[in-house]
Amino acid sequence: MKQLLDKHINLVVDMHGCPNRCMHCWLGDVPNNIIPDAMDLKIVNRFKEYFKDVTFYSWLREPDFFQDYKNRWTLDNELSNTKPNRFELASFYKIVRDINYVKFLKEVGTKKVQLTFFGMEELTDKYIGRKGAFNELLLATTILQENDISPRWQIFINEENKDEILDVIHIAKNNNVKDIFIHAGSCDGNNRKLYDIRINKEDIYKELIPYYLDYNELLTEKECYKLLENDNSYFIPDSSELVINITSDYNMYFNYTNPSKKWRIGNVFDDNFEEIVNRIINKDIEAIRIAKSIPIKDLVKKYGNYNSNRVFFLDDYKMYLLNNELNNN
Ligand code: SF4
Repeated sequence: MKQLLDKHINLVVDMHGCPNRCMHCWLGDVPNNIIPDAMDLKIVNRFKEYFKDVTFYSWLREPDFFQDYKNRWTLDNELSNTKPNRFELASFYKIVRDINYVKFLKEVGTKKVQLTFFGMEELTDKYIGRKGAFNELLLATTILQENDISPRWQIFINEENKDEILDVIHIAKNNNVKDIFIHAGSCDGNNRKLYDIRINKEDIYKELIPYYLDYNELLTEKECYKLLENDNSYFIPDSSELVINITSDYNMYFNYTNPSKKWRIGNVFDDNFEEIVNRIINKDIEAIRIAKSIPIKDLVKKYGNYNSNRVFFLDDYKMYLLNNELNNN
């Protein structure tokens, strides 16, 4: 007999993909397949048999990347016992193409929307994977401001674009953007492929430091190495909320890192669901079994680079090391 667990689970489903192909995307290059609308209930019902409280999101990547985004938002709400959040995210692709979209954002209470830059026009277009993206981001900034929604500019920095970041900040100021932050991102998914051009700490110009996210916690790889080389503990990722990412092939992953083979929990429709629920509750998947078998000090000795000044936050670095082990195993 099925047991209804007194737990809340968030289901984040990649139903329509994303118009962008970002070179830093932490999800990696997941395909842009479409999940038919009618599958939403089938997915939710599988979980509602076991979890008392379910929240459904129809997007894992670009929010509202649907023809009828209004109806999709209504459906997401109807499927959820605890209502989904809007977060500070929206589709800039839609903002510049559909005059009604920004009005919808207002209706659902959006106060702020994050927009992402990778330098000036050529580099931003290159890193987002779409010609015209930089100009769309500028236009989206204006449209949001005209509708009393505050744009927040997120700027990714690396060795290739570092000389352009100050120019981006000047443009932000000229456009009256007050909320600006810079970071290198986690070394995960597609961003992992950019390890070689990850910014060195000494190459972050001092004018950029006031904008750098949590700069005081930023370490060089060498500093991470020194902190971890005698660490006997194990890096077991966890999150405060239970969040399951579901890709368009109905495979499920925790939301810690990129959806790759060893992080896979199982398939919504192909696997025994009681077994899936056990794996979710007990975090019983291959990646975590491997994480429990190798202490951090061994991971850093195997995969760390003591001579590197590339920047990391410590937990992101641990995840980077663990994913090296998983790729190698
Ligand atoms: S980072 Fe976001 S916008 Fe870029 S490809 Fe990934 S999901 Fe799409």
